[in-house]
Parts: sequence; C-alpha cells; structure tokens
Amino acid sequence: MSGLSLNDISKQFGSFTAVDRVNLSVPHGTFVCLLGPSGCGKTTLLRMIAGLEEPSSGRIVIDDEDITDVPTHKRNLGMVFQSLALFPHLSVGENIAYPLRIRGVAREEQAKRTQELLRMVHLPGSGDRPVAKLSGGQRQRVAIARALALSPRLFLLDEPLSALDAKLREAMQVELRQLQQRLGITTIVVTHDQREAMTMADLVVVMGDGKIRQAAPPIEIYRKPADAFVAGFIGMTNLLPVETDRAGRAMVLDTAIPGLRLPDGVTRASVSVRPEDVRLSAPGAGSITGKVTFVRDLGGTIETFVETAGTTIIAVATPRERPDVTAGAEVGVVLPPESCVVVRS
Ligand code: ATP
Repeated sequence: MSGLSLNDISKQFGSFTAVDRVNLSVPHGTFVCLLGPSGCGKTTLLRMIAGLEEPSSGRIVIDDEDITDVPTHKRNLGMVFQSLALFPHLSVGENIAYPLRIRGVAREEQAKRTQELLRMVHLPGSGDRPVAKLSGGQRQRVAIARALALSPRLFLLDEPLSALDAKLREAMQVELRQLQQRLGITTIVVTHDQREAMTMADLVVVMGDGKIRQAAPPIEIYRKPADAFVAGFIGMTNLLPVETDRAGRAMVLDTAIPGLRLPDGVTRASVSVRPEDVRLSAPGAGSITGKVTFVRDLGGTIETFVETAGTTIIAVATPRERPDVTAGAEVGVVLPPESCVVVRS
C-alpha cells in the first residue's frame, strides 16, 4: 500500500508499555492527528516512525518499503518539533537551506529552492532576516519550510503549534492544513488539542494507555465515538448512564427514552449526547426534570447547566434558540433518541 503502515507496533520501557500493539494504515496524502491525554504514547509512536526510537516489536512500512531498521537520516522524513530547533545565529534563508547544504545541493539550486519554500510558507523576501527577530508564527513557518526542503515522503510534527497563543494557533492550523493539501504530503501530527485535530485531520487517531481507541475521520469520531473515553475526549459531551428496565425500555436517569435501544445483550452502558442536541422544555412527561444551576452566555452560544439526580447536563443553544431560563428555574431536559449514542462505559 502506498502511504504508511504500522504493523503491531509496541514499545516497552523496562516493564512499562508505552505503545501497545498499534496497527494503522495511512493512505498516501492523508493528514493524521495523533490525539490523546498526556502520557498516552503519542510522542513515542511518532518517534518510532521517525526512527528516533526503536520499536520493541512490530514493523513500519512506507510506500511498501519496510523502514523499521532504516536509520532516521535515510528515511527521508521532514520533522518539526515543539522546540523548532532553528539555528539562532543563521538567517531565515540559511536555516531553510541548511538541509540542502548538508545534502550537497548546488548553491544556485539551494537559492532557488529556498525562494520557493519562502513563498510557500508566506514569507517571501524574508530570506536575509535573522530568525531571532521573527515572531512565533514566522518561526513556525521557517521550521516548516526547512522540514519540507528535501521534499520528504512523510511530514512529522510533534505539538508544533503549542507554543503559540490561541488566535495565532488557530490561524496556523488552517495554514498548515492548506499547505499539506497543496503538497499532498502524508502528514502525522501529535497534539493533545482536540480542536486542532478536528481542524486539520483527515484521520484522527485517539490514543489512551498506549493503545488506539479509535481511528476515524474527525466528524465520525465526534458523532460516533467508539467508547466513553473517546466521547469524553472529543468535544464537550454529556455522558449519562443508561440501562434497560424490566419492560425493555432504555432508561436514562430514570426516564424512558422512547426510540432508544441498547445493543442486543447489553443492559447497562452510557449514552453520549452532545450539548447542542439537548433540548430544554417545560418540566413534564417525556423529559428529565432538573434545576438550572448556571447559564453561560458566550455570545455565539449559550450554555445552560442543569442539575438532575447529582448529574449535570449541559445544553448548548444559539442566541436565536436562546432558552428562556435563569439559574434556579425548574426545567425539562429532552434527549432526542437519535442523538443518544450508546457507548461502552
Ligand atoms: P505528552 O502529551 O505528555 O507528550 P505522550 O502521549 O506524547 O504525552 P509519551 O511521551 O509517548 O506520551 O510517553 C508515553 C509514556 O512513556 C509516558 O508514561 C512516559 O513517561 C513514558 N516514556 C516515554 N519515553 C520514555 C523513556 N525514554 N523511558 C521511560 N519511559 C518513557
């Protein structure tokens, strides 16, 4: 298969398993985000793909070539790390041209390629500037240009945007995605920011405890999380216990949700209901009754926190749908059955 294949990759540090039998097929040109909480093994997996860490078992294949035992510098990869590792005493152009120089590319060709790369990352004419004088976003672009100088077959980035402030980070996410699409380069980014993953990725790989918990397109991860861990990790959600009663009805917080069915043989699980799918109504039949504890008006959205039986349910509405409630009000909470995703607890 053209692209990247991880076949049963594990990494042991002593008796500790940092990456646990990971299998993943990444078609050529795909943008992958490795996502998960701190310590789940994202960086270790990326470092194994990069050749900076040796897998304890398993094979890594790029474009049908088994590279597991190939040293880093012969894998033809572009890498950007959080620290960027730019040379502070060199100019922007010299930084970008560095890999070309090391490879012995002719001077003229170096200059031409550097200009091309500067244009590509929206820094035309900046070749002579000292990197020390650049803003965070500009430095980021220089690091990206340098990593792409040798037209690598795989582009690997570890938390590349985490040092930037929120606004710049969002802008760079879009920029990075557009650049990747233009180049059609297979790209793997480690992040713990789910919004970043949703913005950039074709394929989000959610990891937990060294294992892949779900690998799917972002919207599928959001709409059909494989389990409670994934549902809780991607976006805001309400995770509520569900069980079937003697009559076979699905009960959430002691309220029957007509139309909701648990898989055969399952009598107890959780449902994930996204806040934007939760409806508030007058208290009454068919709804869970609760008390509004807090209303957060964020301008573009309004979040209403409703407490019921020791659980807080969050409903999100747009200003146009604004629920007419304030803290202290009794409300009904309606969970549309089609929005209730049953997940393993
Ligand atoms: P973060 O987002 O915090 O960087 P991560 O998901 O990238 O986390 P890793 O850096 O891959 O996690 O680490 C996974 C686990 O492996 C952690 O528990 C870490 O302490 C452990 N680990 C990583 N490198 C080593 C090492 N060289 N020796 C021992 N343990 C290690």
